[in-house]
Amino acid sequence: MHYVIGSGPAGVACAAGLLGKGLEVTLIDAGLQLEEPRRRELEGLQEISPSEWRGKRGGFLRDGMRAGSAGVPLKMAYGSDFAYRTLAGTADLVLQGASISASYARGGLSNVWGAAVLPYRQSDLTGWPFPAERLAKHYRSVFEFMPLSGRRDELEEQFPLYTEQYESLETSRQAQAMLCDLEAHRESLRGHGIRFGSARIAVAAHRDGRDCVRCGLCMYGCPHRLIYSSADTLHDLQRHERFHYLPGLQVTRVSEGAGRVRILTRPAVPIDPTNPAGLASASNINGATTAFEGERVYLACGVLATTTLLLRSLERYDSPAWAADSKYFLLPILRFRGTSGVRAEALHTLAQIFLEIEDPAISPYTIHLQTYTYNDLFEQALRSSLGFLAPAVSGNALISRLLLFQGYLHSAHSPRIRMELRRKPSGEEEMQVSGETPRAGDKVVRAVIGKLARSYKGIGALPLSPLLRLSAPGRGFHSGGSFPMRERPQDGETDVFGRPSGLTRIHAVDSSIFPSVPATTITLSAMANAHRIADELELYA
Ligand SMILES: Cc1cc2nc3c(=O)[nH]c(=O)nc-3n(C[C@H](O)[C@H](O)[C@H](O)COP(=O)(O)OP(=O)(O)OC[C@H]3O[C@@H](n4cnc5c(N)ncnc54)[C@H](O)[C@@H]3O)c2cc1C
Ligand code: SF4
Repeated sequence: MHYVIGSGPAGVACAAGLLGKGLEVTLIDAGLQLEEPRRRELEGLQEISPSEWRGKRGGFLRDGMRAGSAGVPLKMAYGSDFAYRTLAGTADLVLQGASISASYARGGLSNVWGAAVLPYRQSDLTGWPFPAERLAKHYRSVFEFMPLSGRRDELEEQFPLYTEQYESLETSRQAQAMLCDLEAHRESLRGHGIRFGSARIAVAAHRDGRDCVRCGLCMYGCPHRLIYSSADTLHDLQRHERFHYLPGLQVTRVSEGAGRVRILTRPAVPIDPTNPAGLASASNINGATTAFEGERVYLACGVLATTTLLLRSLERYDSPAWAADSKYFLLPILRFRGTSGVRAEALHTLAQIFLEIEDPAISPYTIHLQTYTYNDLFEQALRSSLGFLAPAVSGNALISRLLLFQGYLHSAHSPRIRMELRRKPSGEEEMQVSGETPRAGDKVVRAVIGKLARSYKGIGALPLSPLLRLSAPGRGFHSGGSFPMRERPQDGETDVFGRPSGLTRIHAVDSSIFPSVPATTITLSAMANAHRIADELELYA
């Protein structure tokens, strides 16, 4: 038996790859789910007209989603924080100047993600022990089960679509207007190293007889479930006769010996956020330990949980692992021309346009900007940022011209994240996670803003630098590389199949093994790489 741990994007991609090799696969998963009452409310929404979703019946979608000046503190799914809930008995997380979360949910963080997907290109793969073309086939495999909304445009030259099965969600009118301006200045923008195209998002325009109705609720969770979650793929995998799913288990340790792997688990008991002490009692934490044995195990628990599990399994306490992070920032821009009626417009509210900046004077790596047009959370955040000037947002003049860039830098320009597992005197564990200081990359962000300001004609907008928000390391959720892949791995590193130095049957397959983190969205490549490791079985088995 081959075991995969975790049903997030990397886990399902790995499982699909192993099934493709004709193997018997068991996926072990903590597997927390949306609470039953919310699931019923969601099903209720699917039975009524989308025009009523913004009414009382859809009120639950907005629970916990209030934007402040720094944006939305935590993006929920259908009003629930289940994707971020922790388990009783996990190492206490102590954060210092960093922001990182593990997910113990069925589908992991893809329950809440923004679904932006753009592959990695060769020039951004610093430190990777193999060329980008080795991932190409696996990007294609991922798009066999993950939907893509995008278009053929100039981004394709550097970032192939890797599928012919894409659809095109209609862009918002603000995005259409900006695309017109960009189009009119294409050559000069290109001369300045700025390329643009439609955002690529993992969203199905239609699914199970339901269409995108441009209800604008994407940030709260799609009532039609059109935004991809790896739980969708898990659902499909469960129909496969060689696939077995074991939810409700927390893997605590993995080991290997005598040609086998051994996986220790205990019941996954979520901590009730309203009563954190209540469920963390010894009886809940120490429920029966169950051990599994098999040929190989593939860890896809997400960077924080995989790192914790590996450090514990390797008995590497008090010895930090350093993760790489793609620096994340938010930058509002003010368009010269407004678009009327944005508050009432039927639109989707995921990323609309991608801008890719390539300027050796700023960075040798691609800088990735995702453009968001109007959504109600953006308006809330803006009001908080403006303080006493907030009434200026009430009319249309400002809101019709405001857009938001969500920017990412290559990890070479980003502070690293230190992760150290420690044993407390009580015997419990603590995972100390801190952001590296001084914070690298701020200068690069300023240079990007300067470049955007100089390109104001092509973009048809000016960046609002006083409203720039630089986020703590990890906050953009594009982190990895705590056990980087190397051609010849040393202690704390992995080989090209994700096996920590000295091990032959335990593979880490998520972004924990990325040698560096390019700016152009992490999850698609984490999936492709996990699929690659499964598919290249003959090279290491
Ligand atoms: C708000 C938000 C927006 C994002 N937007 C984007 C985006 O637009 N584009 C992009 O590329 N990325 C985005 N991301 C990041 C993306 O969600 C993650 O990169 C991706 O989910 C990581 O996948 P994974 O499979 O490695 O891990 P996860 O998604 O974290 O899944 C981990 C899985 O492992 C299981 N698990 C963990 N520990 C254990 C254990 N000990 N025992 C058993 N099971 C375990 C969990 O149950 C879960 O199923 C976003 C993230 C967030 C939070
Ligand atoms: S606009 Fe977003 S939330 Fe609404 S149906 Fe389309 S994808 Fe789903």
